[in-house]
Amino acid sequence: MQQINIARAQNSHNLDSSTDDFRHHDIDALIHVGAKASRLASLLLRIKNADQSRWTKEAVIILAQPLAGRYKISRSIAMRVAYAALTEWINPHCRACSGAREILREAGGSILCESCAGAGVHRYSDSDRASLCGAAFVGRIADAHAYVMSEITNNIAAALRD
Ligand SMILES: [Zn+2]
Repeated sequence: MQQINIARAQNSHNLDSSTDDFRHHDIDALIHVGAKASRLASLLLRIKNADQSRWTKEAVIILAQPLAGRYKISRSIAMRVAYAALTEWINPHCRACSGAREILREAGGSILCESCAGAGVHRYSDSDRASLCGAAFVGRIADAHAYVMSEITNNIAAALRD
């Protein structure tokens, strides 16, 4: 039963715990799973699946916390790296095709999206990520970014595991 509730909650795009009982039930399912694994997973699920961006700051603080010591970067750069990774995780789609992998042609039909080569995801280079974070040390930013991404996916995987 719990699995079904979770799947349904993940597919609800406009969850709002205050509007009706049906949606309230979905939010409860998400919060229940999140609480079982970690505070971070609960925040991430709310931000991504329920458009509850008010939790972004807390999630960024948690994600940034280990970065400064681990990658020898300042706290403010660590916050930017965490925010950039979180933003990328929330909206991974290609800007040209919005994740559709193909572009509709005026003449009819569609062609493979050239921007993402049909992958549907936006491609960031390590130097894109470093400049997004206002940092010149590309290698450490790339490592820190990869660490944040793995923290996000590991926390979500743990939360959704029975
Ligand atoms: Zn594309």
